[in-house]
Amino acid sequence: MKLVRTRHELAEIVTQWQREGETIGLVPTMGSLHEGHLTLVRALDGKATRRIVTIFVNPIQFNNPDDFQLYPRGLEADEALLAETGVVDVLYAPDETQIYPPGFCTRISVSGPDRMLCGGDRPGHFDGVATVITKLFMQTRANIAAFGEKDFQQLCIIHRVVTDLDLPITILPVPTVREADHLALSSRNKRLTPAQRDQASHLPKALIDCLAALKAGQPVAAALKHCAQTLKDAGFTVHYLDLRSEKSLGTVEKAEAGARLFVAASLGDVRLIDNMPVA
Ligand code: AMP
Repeated sequence: MKLVRTRHELAEIVTQWQREGETIGLVPTMGSLHEGHLTLVRALDGKATRRIVTIFVNPIQFNNPDDFQLYPRGLEADEALLAETGVVDVLYAPDETQIYPPGFCTRISVSGPDRMLCGGDRPGHFDGVATVITKLFMQTRANIAAFGEKDFQQLCIIHRVVTDLDLPITILPVPTVREADHLALSSRNKRLTPAQRDQASHLPKALIDCLAALKAGQPVAAALKHCAQTLKDAGFTVHYLDLRSEKSLGTVEKAEAGARLFVAASLGDVRLIDNMPVA
């Protein structure tokens, strides 16, 4: 595995790969890697002949400078984890100037699906995501890119960008990887204190119980209200808890196939998100 720090060096490598007819697979990340990220890398098995993982903590998708500063970082450990997989060809870890050259002032803006859920209380977040992901698609010239369903709204927005801008890339969705107590793996979990980590297991449990109540016929509003209260009682600040369509992300009144529960809730200053489909 080669560690690449500049877009020029990356361009030389991918130009050569394209000449040789390789299929380029991409896993974009913000680092602080865990098994969820490695699952995305493995999801490209048989779908790409070359694999690039990118690590870039994207300043323009953070609304809060403290959140950006406190985002966990650790390039050496990440590099070791990726090298161990034996299947990553390039780790691209650019600094800010490689992504945002002086004078940079272009944004990819996705209107509609960016306003709800995480877009509601993080204005501009998804413009930042759509912009950096489009740039990484262009710089890596990837044919296929894997994204986790853990960030389901992000996945929907990227699908929208690819469709709307005719980007020549296939998006591969990958189901959420969870701990034994069902907590979704997340780089942000590292910021939880041991006590908060224990509390955090209430988040997936509340979603599982809510889905069971819906399946048993409980009205949606009552099930959501009960679920939100359970989370508050467990010490969470709940930012949203909604049942929404997987396609449009609009709210839905019925718990039927194609609907998904979405939640964002904080423990202290650590914001966690999760989602689960109505089976
Ligand atoms: P991040 O580094 O958090 O920006 O995530 C990079 C990619 O990994 C995104 O496509 C995420 O959806 C995906 N990802 C993060 N956590 C998980 C998880 N627990 N399971 C599956 N994919 C994940």
